[in-house]
Amino acid sequence: MNFFTHLECGMCAKELPADKAWNLCPDCGKPLLARYDLKAAKKAVSRTEIASRVPDMWRYFELLPVLDARYRLCLGEGYTPLHAAHRLGREVGCSQLFVKDEGLNPTGSFKARGLSAAVSKAYELGIKALSIPTAGNAGGAMSAYAALAGMEAFVFMPKDVPPPFINECKALGAKVTLIDGLITDCGKAAAREVKEYGRFDLSTLKEPYRIEGKKTMGYEVAEQFGWALPDVIIYPTGGGTGLVGMWKAFDEMEQLGWISSKRPRMVTVQSAGCAPMVKAFHEGKEFAEPWQDAKTIADGLRVPAAVGDFLVLRALRESSGTAVAVPDEEIMEATNLL
Ligand SMILES: *Cc1c(COP(=O)(O)O)cnc(C)c1O
Repeated sequence: MNFFTHLECGMCAKELPADKAWNLCPDCGKPLLARYDLKAAKKAVSRTEIASRVPDMWRYFELLPVLDARYRLCLGEGYTPLHAAHRLGREVGCSQLFVKDEGLNPTGSFKARGLSAAVSKAYELGIKALSIPTAGNAGGAMSAYAALAGMEAFVFMPKDVPPPFINECKALGAKVTLIDGLITDCGKAAAREVKEYGRFDLSTLKEPYRIEGKKTMGYEVAEQFGWALPDVIIYPTGGGTGLVGMWKAFDEMEQLGWISSKRPRMVTVQSAGCAPMVKAFHEGKEFAEPWQDAKTIADGLRVPAAVGDFLVLRALRESSGTAVAVPDEEIMEATNLL
């Protein structure tokens, strides 16, 4: 059984049927979100049953958009460990600190979750060629799942990304185009070829399913804490899909009767060299202005403009959270401390 019913625009609430491929809302150009029949799911799925399943993100398949299990592309993504970091917690003055190790996902990052879901759904919809602009991790993940399905993969990366990211995509059979610019420039180049060659654009939040994979972080955090949520979640934010995904998961789980209405405060962390969400949050804006001259060693956070900015800002405010910019030197110190 699967309870995916339709898509809904995150801005104008337009509803769309999910039997064909969509990118942004055809009316207002904002991200589309997957919706489920949660009333029916509540009756059909229990937390105890979930607990008995294989430890990957597809244990939540009723709340994921792939209808037919044959199209599920799984490399073991998700259900990553949640480490109690006691010593680090003492060091930073936090009595109960946990670190979710997303680096253990296939291809080495949590991008695997989003792309497992999105490539699977594209596969189910009969799409043959995929395109993605990426700072590195998303490209590797898309290439892996495309290879698993035998689909064509086209990856657009800034030419200054570290070579291992480029080699990973090539080794997995993707065609890589290096762009003299940032991820936003890669997005533009990718979009031109999408039109010309009829590929499907998997840019984050420009299609509705990567967020569905990433939301499983929220389901897992709840499950791993015995169906309770922590007081605060600190999230390194680029496009913001992971943060918006977790926030969406909490709403779904409450409607499923799996958690209470208590929510964590959500905290966005960006590099001071590229902090559009932090700036917009503190200025009280609904949307973030594109960041000029984005520069940071945190490749995954070098996202000067994001189509889901308003969803990130909304989640931060609804959760009474905040947004913090950290200079690269402090990022390096903290990485070493961790
Ligand atoms: C993509 C990425 C991020 C940012 O994630 P978003 O959900 O796009 O905000 C953070 N860290 C790493 C390592 C990444 O690959």
